[in-house]
Amino acid sequence: MADTKSSAHAPRLISRLQYILFPRRCALCACVVSPDDALCESCGAAVLTLGNTQRGACLAPFVYGGVVREALLDLKFGGERTCVPYFADALAQYVREETRSFDCLCAVPLHPARQKSRGFNQSDLLADALAARLSLPVQSDLLARLRDTPSQRTLDHAGRQENVQGAFAVPPGAVVQGLRILLVDDITTTGATLREASGMLRQAGAARVQCIAVATTVPKNARS
Ligand SMILES: [Zn+2]
Repeated sequence: MADTKSSAHAPRLISRLQYILFPRRCALCACVVSPDDALCESCGAAVLTLGNTQRGACLAPFVYGGVVREALLDLKFGGERTCVPYFADALAQYVREETRSFDCLCAVPLHPARQKSRGFNQSDLLADALAARLSLPVQSDLLARLRDTPSQRTLDHAGRQENVQGAFAVPPGAVVQGLRILLVDDITTTGATLREASGMLRQAGAARVQCIAVATTVPKNARS
């Protein structure tokens, strides 16, 4: 009897030991949190979600600002990936009911030179994690970036559209015809990049392209 009792306690003991050795960390600021929480109290209170609304043609669960902005910048420029599963969970919630409406996911590509210097594409990481949650394949070879466009941050609306014009192409040999594609990016501001990239996929015969990003900026006139 004693053996049965102690073996019943073993999984709990192991999970407590695991927690002591590898404590769960807040997905956004990496401080230690309790095993059941994804975020610490402070990040949980600071995160602004858009709710179940669609802004323009792009789905995005979070407002780009505060801890979400910091986590996305840490991912993009510091390779800090702690936030990826949390953001992928949020993206999956947005499209889970529609999973059967897509054939594959595609990440917005970086220019090969940029990808080489950074070592990874943050949108690839997000697309991979989201695809695993939706049990869909990732086909990021459907789209290539031809130009390493300057940062969109300093440009106005018209400048951003111009900046990304002709920046993407469907590589020869990529079969896009009839595909229903979920196009994944980390951040969207005016939507210029996603519009240009999705336009190329539609031109190549995609049956549907739905854009999804982790966060979107809220236009000044929509801020309360
Ligand atoms: Zn936190």
